[in-house]
Amino acid sequence: NLPLSQVDPDIADVLRGELDRQRNTLEMIASENFVPRAVLEAVGSVLTNKYAEGYPGRRYYGGCEVVDVAENLARDRAKELFGAEFANVQPHSGASANAAVLHALAKPGDTILGLSLDHGGHLTHGMKINFSGRLYNVAAYGVNYETGRIDMDQVRELALEHKPAVIIAGWSAYPRQLDFEAFRAIADEVGAYLWVDMAHFAGLVAAGLHPNPVPHADVVSTTVHKTIGGPRSGIILTNNADLNKKINSAVFPGQQGGPLMHVIAGKAVAFKLAMTPEFKDRQERTLRGAQIIAERLSQQDVRDAGIALTTGGTDVHLVLVDLRDAAIDGQQAEDLLHEAGITVNRNSVPNDPRPPMVTSGLRIGTPALATRGFGDEEFREVADVIAQALMPNADVEALRARTTVLAERFPLYAGLVYA
Ligand code: PLP
Repeated sequence: NLPLSQVDPDIADVLRGELDRQRNTLEMIASENFVPRAVLEAVGSVLTNKYAEGYPGRRYYGGCEVVDVAENLARDRAKELFGAEFANVQPHSGASANAAVLHALAKPGDTILGLSLDHGGHLTHGMKINFSGRLYNVAAYGVNYETGRIDMDQVRELALEHKPAVIIAGWSAYPRQLDFEAFRAIADEVGAYLWVDMAHFAGLVAAGLHPNPVPHADVVSTTVHKTIGGPRSGIILTNNADLNKKINSAVFPGQQGGPLMHVIAGKAVAFKLAMTPEFKDRQERTLRGAQIIAERLSQQDVRDAGIALTTGGTDVHLVLVDLRDAAIDGQQAEDLLHEAGITVNRNSVPNDPRPPMVTSGLRIGTPALATRGFGDEEFREVADVIAQALMPNADVEALRARTTVLAERFPLYAGLVYA
């Protein structure tokens, strides 16, 4: 029962180093967030010891009476939060939730229709070497090159042509809301299931700041660790009672063995917090932050440097910067911002001439900084730092000093010490 610092000083160093990095830099990767202390406690708990294959009240192992309470709470809270009649809270991650969704809705060889990866879709929506691209026949829709927006006429044409078993609405890099009614109408017209993957925007939905896909979709999946700000994991929701059993058996035993009960307890905590006024305030600051960044990056000085935003702005928690006409590529931009103390990821933009390891874009998100406490004033400051960093001849050292001031003003995990 020795502490980590004695058992494994190397890994203790990693924990300290990562806590320092998170404290001293500004996290703007759109899919990341900071879990509250209460979630850290649940995830780092003795619940990790428990095997609980099966579902509450129907387990294949003894001694599950305590962890059943956690899973029931997580399920009930997920249902309440998103207005769903059914929830499966066992998926270990977003990708495993999505594997279970396709397992429940389609047979290998069936056709699926999703947003293509290079236009902002996710790997699990049909990428060639992902399970989804290997097991299913993939048709993909994209965005209109003029507007940067998903073209619902194209979605309908492709659906009529390919007659997919499943239509997928959801994205990893797209700065606008989706039209769930239009997707539903197309799915009904061709007799397809509609699956919405709201991994990115679920926190906005929970706060009532984004349309809720649950009433429109046959199945909704989400991660819990992005805008929601819970532990790294996934869940699946449905209001289609015919699918409840199929989803449960697709998750276990279809995709997974024992559920991660410590993570499920952390999900229950995150869902409880997501029902509070503080959560709604955080999501409002997240949205305003993204708008402030979009406004700054649309000003003339930035436009003169050949920098643009796909779709011209945002109505979610991220912006997608288009560097195709700029002097720097996505990799250089990511590196420059890193030196300035801001962490983002490079991202392909639609019709990107550069390879995926370089790209001509950046994805910049505000959820983690909103969790840290940022409001309009701080987002204006960070937006200006980003703008200055991306323009030619940036004084990166001066910019780094400005991000340090912001990081120090909003201490992260105050009092947390890894010995
Ligand atoms: N779905 C979408 C839309 C995502 O953006 C992501 C993560 O990036 C996932 C699913 C997968 O989640 P995970 O990384 O937990 O497997």
